[in-house]
Amino acid sequence: MKYLGPLIVVEEIAAARKFYEELLGQRVQLDFGVNVSFEGNLAIHQKAHFQSLIGDQLPITRKPHNFELYFETEDLAQADQRLKEAGVRYIHETCEQPWGQRVMRVYDPDDHIVEIGETMEAVCVRYHQQGLTAEQISQRTGMPAAFVQQAVQAQNRPPETIRKLSGANMDIDLATPVDQISWKQDACPWNAAEDRSAHRCAVKNISLCPYFRGVEYMDTLLCNYPQENTQ
Ligand code: SF4
Repeated sequence: MKYLGPLIVVEEIAAARKFYEELLGQRVQLDFGVNVSFEGNLAIHQKAHFQSLIGDQLPITRKPHNFELYFETEDLAQADQRLKEAGVRYIHETCEQPWGQRVMRVYDPDDHIVEIGETMEAVCVRYHQQGLTAEQISQRTGMPAAFVQQAVQAQNRPPETIRKLSGANMDIDLATPVDQISWKQDACPWNAAEDRSAHRCAVKNISLCPYFRGVEYMDTLLCNYPQENTQ
């Protein structure tokens, strides 16, 4: 058996969809009218229809305060501002949890509790910037030492520069002059930077460029030049 995700009952599907789609940035995956699911598997279900599924003898009540939906964001302050501008009802403002994470809790239009917190990676980085060692951060947050180390190292890594180039063929060449091929092919940025044609992602499967990050269906090449791959 596989767990798929929560389904919450809502009074008005349009209002609930607007809240999760526009304020929390969730993308709709399937819309069946009375039942809408989002990427990530949260689903909202129209109350009247859900009642017909479970039977009239079971009352659907609001505000039990025994369940919440949990979201994380890289930018807690921006999320806070967006929710406030939309007039969302707060349970509490941003505050620090016992394990050091900053979170806020609000009600959705149907009084379900929604928690929005910073990522635990961001928490680790914040403590690292305050001068705590990895071991101290691990003790403070309860996160495993390996997680802390990874979060701090990722922070120091330069941002990826992956670009999508057209024309990756079977040999993932990208060095053949465009006037010698019949399909659209972007130039290799490494060749362009050095004004040569020697660099190739792969030739007959015998060489791979250190900037090569794979091929996407059907012929799009992922190139990380000028940042060498670290994984
Ligand atoms: S992966 Fe390497 S050879 Fe391929 S396009 Fe990028 S820089 Fe050029």
